Amino acid sequence: MVKDLSQSKWHGVPRQEIPWFPTVNAEACIGCELCFVTCGREVYEIEQQADGRHVKAVAERPYNCMVGCSTCSMVCPTQAISFPGRDVVWEIEKRYKIFGTVRKEAAAKRGKDASEPAPAEPTAVTRLPVKIAGLFGEKRFLVKLEEFIAERPCDVEELQLTVPTLKGLYQGAPAYMTFRLTSTEQADVTGMVEELKALVAANDLVWVDEQGKL
Ligand code: SF4
Ligand code: SF4
Repeated sequence: MVKDLSQSKWHGVPRQEIPWFPTVNAEACIGCELCFVTCGREVYEIEQQADGRHVKAVAERPYNCMVGCSTCSMVCPTQAISFPGRDVVWEIEKRYKIFGTVRKEAAAKRGKDASEPAPAEPTAVTRLPVKIAGLFGEKRFLVKLEEFIAERPCDVEELQLTVPTLKGLYQGAPAYMTFRLTSTEQADVTGMVEELKALVAANDLVWVDEQGKL
């Protein structure tokens, strides 16, 4: 079920009093869907266009947007997403004098952290789903991935490359690579994940986490 945060509050301020949300320029949007998979707060929907062949992103639930976040605009390949200036947020902070509320929230957070039981010993992860976004062809990333697993006790299974739209690909939109990183010796793959993340970053690709965030 899609969450609706429009009635929520931001440090005591009704969310709908704060005009912070993304605006999509439909002319510039190429429908790559990266904003849709990136946003963890279900702000976006992807709409089919009248021609039945193209899709565009729309900010369907603008007040779900986290005040001050602009991640989706950072990753949009065509700069189709815009936000108001930061002064909008600063103005709200001043007008509503939010810092009394913030201090109470900080104290509550510290109290909660102190009363939380120590985390349990992590269990070994032998199979980890991985999702990466970016331009794979130019980087010969598949070759580098082969070299990566050849040097470590791991393998890659069920690898898939997804291209959002063929036209988008020609225009430089990112594709997605998904696979499972598996251990070949029942060893924990957690350490190898950090090395794999470094390889992804070194190739200007983007690691998408389990919640779809970048
Ligand atoms: S990331 Fe940008 S181009 Fe891609 S669907 Fe979203 S708005 Fe459109
Ligand atoms: S700024 Fe962040 S919370 Fe808001 S729509 Fe973009 S990704 Fe989602």
